[in-house]
Amino acid sequence: MAARRRKIRYRLKNTKRARIQAFITLLGCMMILGGLVHTAMLLLPPDYLDAGTSDIDGIPLYTDFLDEAWRGRTGAKHCIKWLVIHETGNSAAGADAAMHNRYLHSEEQKDTPLSWHYTVDDHQIYHHLPDSEQGYHASDSGTKGGGNECGIGIEICVNKDGDYAKAVDNAAHLAAELLNRYHLDISDVKQHGDFTSKNCPERLRQGDNYQQFLNKIKEYM
Ligand SMILES: [Zn+2]
Repeated sequence: MAARRRKIRYRLKNTKRARIQAFITLLGCMMILGGLVHTAMLLLPPDYLDAGTSDIDGIPLYTDFLDEAWRGRTGAKHCIKWLVIHETGNSAAGADAAMHNRYLHSEEQKDTPLSWHYTVDDHQIYHHLPDSEQGYHASDSGTKGGGNECGIGIEICVNKDGDYAKAVDNAAHLAAELLNRYHLDISDVKQHGDFTSKNCPERLRQGDNYQQFLNKIKEYM
């Protein structure tokens, strides 16, 4: 009788152990599968924000790419490693994102090697250059892995008739969307001044403005 009881206990123990082993194996398989899916996602070509998006978290996004005849259109393929944050430095009334879009598209700029990807003001975002293409904004052309070769240029407007704090907030929404989309990290958000000696973005570099900007991006990611 006692031997029989021992046998049953032994069988129950074994069943329990087998269940735990099966669970651990299943968990392991799921982790391996998850890792493979993640790797495959990183290897797939990115889903560029170059078409079909009309707003970022409710902020209107206008796509108006420069004509390919413009010098600003490098046509060069983009390895996206950084977001390069700028300020327009133009405090004139009316110098909003739409004005900077008209400026880039103007005939006078046709032969100028100047372009960036986005301009953000207090109520809208303009997209001037495909994310998939290199621009001319970080003053470091020719530098391998630099701001031009691998950075998405974002200009924040500082026009005196605009709400600067709102423009910065809108830029944080855009930056969060781009970091998520291109599998980048908050440490990949750079200032123009990280690639050259230029004091840009000037206002964001004052006090703890920049840290607050980064905090907002993290919040919106
Ligand atoms: Zn700049």
